[in-house]
Amino acid sequence: MSQTMTSSPATSPTDAATSIFESLESEVRSYCRSWPAVFTRAAGPRIQTEDGREYLDFFSGAGALNYGHNHPELLEPLLDYLRDGGILHSLDMYTSAKRDFLTAFQDLILEPRELDYRVMFPGPTGTNAVEAALKLARKVTGRQHILSFTNAFHGMTLGSLSVTGNSMKRRGAGIPLTNSSKIPYDDYFSGTTEDFLWLERVLEDSGSGVDKPAAIIVETVQGEGGLNAARLEWLRALSDLCRAHDILLIVDDVQAGCGRTGTFFSFEEAGIVPDIVCLSKSISGYGLPMALVLIRPDLDVWEPGEHNGTFRGHNAAFVTGTAALERFWSDDVFAKEVRERGAELRRDLTAVAEQYDGAEVRGRGLLTGVAFPDPEVAGRVAQAAFRRGLLVETSGPESEVLKVMPALTITAEDLAEGTRIIADSVAEVLGTAR
Ligand code: PMP
Repeated sequence: MSQTMTSSPATSPTDAATSIFESLESEVRSYCRSWPAVFTRAAGPRIQTEDGREYLDFFSGAGALNYGHNHPELLEPLLDYLRDGGILHSLDMYTSAKRDFLTAFQDLILEPRELDYRVMFPGPTGTNAVEAALKLARKVTGRQHILSFTNAFHGMTLGSLSVTGNSMKRRGAGIPLTNSSKIPYDDYFSGTTEDFLWLERVLEDSGSGVDKPAAIIVETVQGEGGLNAARLEWLRALSDLCRAHDILLIVDDVQAGCGRTGTFFSFEEAGIVPDIVCLSKSISGYGLPMALVLIRPDLDVWEPGEHNGTFRGHNAAFVTGTAALERFWSDDVFAKEVRERGAELRRDLTAVAEQYDGAEVRGRGLLTGVAFPDPEVAGRVAQAAFRRGLLVETSGPESEVLKVMPALTITAEDLAEGTRIIADSVAEVLGTAR
């Protein structure tokens, strides 16, 4: 980035700079309330405001910018494609950009992992992918009920909301959210109750009154729900239980996928193979909207056009998505670097958490953060970090977790700079300023 970060503390932009947002844009806007700045340009892990301030970005578009902002090796093919008059909009017609993407996805992602999936392109957001997955699971099994987990987050449309935990978001539906139930995520009872005990019993008991579900949908790390990371053996037990009872397992990898946890899919380390996988956020690699649903081939029972949408298969996203797969996933070098950065992040955040009673490091890979016993603290730390030049958000039902999500391409130096700002901000908020 051309300008260096100013050392002056962040100030709010002038009223003139933000008045149109405040007068015209709906009250629903949220991130801008935490970060009252007008952003204009960005490169890699840094983002700049129109008044020349620069921030290190540990938010990464809520996981849509895994390769940082405006990666030059993704920008170039996109510019070439646009200059060349490449087709942008095509619904689900065949295009060369889609062919290139599917070929790269097959060669670089599916085949090396011995995964056999059909690829479906729903509308371009995470919640579109989840809606399609739930619909398909119900169609395939002829069952209605879906099980999801405490503190899950799967999106804002009605089907996705029905499997989401957060009560404020659920209330927004304004109608009953039906045909789904919540079951405890890993460690919900702090290890005191045997996992899946209740579920196993009720599924086997024909008098339990619990209908067999079509599917169980799970995040391996609950990005919005407080960075709860399921243990790998818990994920394996969940997968075994689904297999044993003929229940489809849907992994929502919208946030934890595309390398965030140190492997392309977040479930790889557990060695499980879900029946359906949802991907979005960083699958285009460039912040362009795109989503896909991976479907076990024998479950691909859609009628042509039974689930459609105008903005499926955005060709610009195919171009950058293909470039991202080729640049980062042709071998294991990048994933290894992500795992190294993830270990450094955990080490640095552990050092912060150890200084404060009850603070706890949560998450996996570069989706890691610190949970504070006082739910006020994480938000105040995020504000202090903003004043010091760092974007970092909170997560969890009470926003009690400082959620650290840098670009996967971040250097060790930039990562250390950001975690130092976090340490200083925590010290400031908890009264031990250094
Ligand atoms: N699933 C998960 C796990 C998510 O984290 C999100 C977004 N935070 C969604 C689904 C919904 O994605 P979108 O906002 O693109 O609809």
